[in-house]
Amino acid sequence: MKSVVNYFRSLMLWELLMGLKLTGRYFFARKITVQYPEEKTPQSPRFRGLHALRRYPNGEERCIACKLCEAVCPALAITIESEQRADGTRRTTRYDIDLFKCIYCGFCEESCPVDSIVETRIFEYHFEKRGDNIINKQQLLAIGDQHEQQIAADRAQDAAFR
Ligand code: SF4
Ligand code: SF4
Repeated sequence: MKSVVNYFRSLMLWELLMGLKLTGRYFFARKITVQYPEEKTPQSPRFRGLHALRRYPNGEERCIACKLCEAVCPALAITIESEQRADGTRRTTRYDIDLFKCIYCGFCEESCPVDSIVETRIFEYHFEKRGDNIINKQQLLAIGDQHEQQIAADRAQDAAFR
């Protein structure tokens, strides 16, 4: 019986009609194509883009070189070297992230006890020469300085969700 039904369906081009019905439905539906880059889709405050290192309002860098982020990174993308300063505090002398290795999992920012390493909303970046994929401490701090307002607002919004 099923084969007979299938035979008549094939004669009546049933699958074709079903396909045209679906096409017609989307033809008249509201278009959702975003004209990137003129238009942007909304982003979550938890968006995990390019990394940044943050400072306290007095300009002191937050990172205390505990290396938790380096230890937790599943891609082994973070390399930290540190030394003790004259005042007894510990700070990094090297903080590199290999963006080719990074899988943007967010574990580094989750693990940081002082909210130093964060992932920003920045996703439009590129590399022009070999080695640019390694982003160093100065570059990370510069990104943090430039986007601190947005980062702080996102952290506050995120805290309100929890
Ligand atoms: S986002 Fe994940 S993979 Fe990338 S540096 Fe942080 S912990 Fe490593
Ligand atoms: S960024 Fe945070 S987790 Fe990583 S070494 Fe600095 S203080 Fe520790």
